[in-house]
Amino acid sequence: MPDSRRRALDHHSGRANLGPIIPKADHNYVAFFLTLSCNLKCPYCINLHDHVHRIDQARRKMMTADEWISAADRLTLRDDLPLTLQGGEPTLHKGFFRIVNEVKPEIKMDLMTNMMFDVRQFIENVPTWRFDRQAPYAPIRVSYHPGQNDIEDLIRKTFKLQDAGFRVGLYGIAHPDATIAKHIQDVQARCLKLGIDFRTKEFLGFHEDKLYGTFKYDGSINGAAHCACECRTTEIIVDPSGNVFRCHSDLYKGRLPIAHILDADFNEESIDVFRSCQNFGDCNPCDVKVKTNRHQIFGHTSVEIRDIRNTKDDGTIKSSTVPLNVIPAQAGNQ
Ligand code: SF4
Ligand code: SF4
Repeated sequence: MPDSRRRALDHHSGRANLGPIIPKADHNYVAFFLTLSCNLKCPYCINLHDHVHRIDQARRKMMTADEWISAADRLTLRDDLPLTLQGGEPTLHKGFFRIVNEVKPEIKMDLMTNMMFDVRQFIENVPTWRFDRQAPYAPIRVSYHPGQNDIEDLIRKTFKLQDAGFRVGLYGIAHPDATIAKHIQDVQARCLKLGIDFRTKEFLGFHEDKLYGTFKYDGSINGAAHCACECRTTEIIVDPSGNVFRCHSDLYKGRLPIAHILDADFNEESIDVFRSCQNFGDCNPCDVKVKTNRHQIFGHTSVEIRDIRNTKDDGTIKSSTVPLNVIPAQAGNQ
């Protein structure tokens, strides 16, 4: 651990040594991936994108509750920018209840979960005000994975959480497979009838050799050619060990962190630069898909990529049609 970080963490009062991180107006997302462990085993999980093994993800070093609290306390967030806790299944972090209680009260959080937790314990230990923010979507967003978590259980738990004062939304994938799509439609209709907010997410990736999703950069996710480029992110995404990455592809692979969230000299300027990347073609759909931003306006991408070069002939790449185990991206990180 660098001296600067160790000094910053000396005693819990060491938080004062850490400078603030104040995301700018065009920084759209701040997420702490508390753990990449999960209590479900979705075969399409994006945390396992491109041959990353589940066991290796689960073994990744995890920051303690004290460290996450120190990291969150550095943040100064706008009203429309929450700190999102995700994973894996973020509630599996042993310090989850401490984190949601002890981070400074100004920080509002969102939670992305599969809701496999004990709902009574959650209600007893999680303050509603932490997940209470005016937004066009629920701060607690639950992914329904057919065959993995049970929709009846999710509905029961949603009612209990709502009765306790939490805002909860359920999400399913608009899958291109007709049978799965019909099931999701039926579940959505039933939930809406019950007064439960159930939304669908776009399917991203390949299904039966057809690519689904709208991606800004041709050839970015098919893995057929790894090209050099320059890339700039709009997000602060932090893996379980506290490393900050420029994109989800790097985060899931533990590849080339740009900083540690507890580095004394890390701040919003640190992410706001174009960095050289040799892995264009291995981008994660989350980063390059055209999507709605936090204002629910369509057209945003998480990263901006420029100067794409084939590393062999130094020419501009053409879109490739060769898929490489591309999986439904929206299923990942909840
Ligand atoms: S080009 Fe792709 S792999 Fe490289 S940093 Fe950007 S999003 Fe990540
Ligand atoms: S997709 Fe989500 S719920 Fe399923 S295994 Fe991955 S992290 Fe867990």
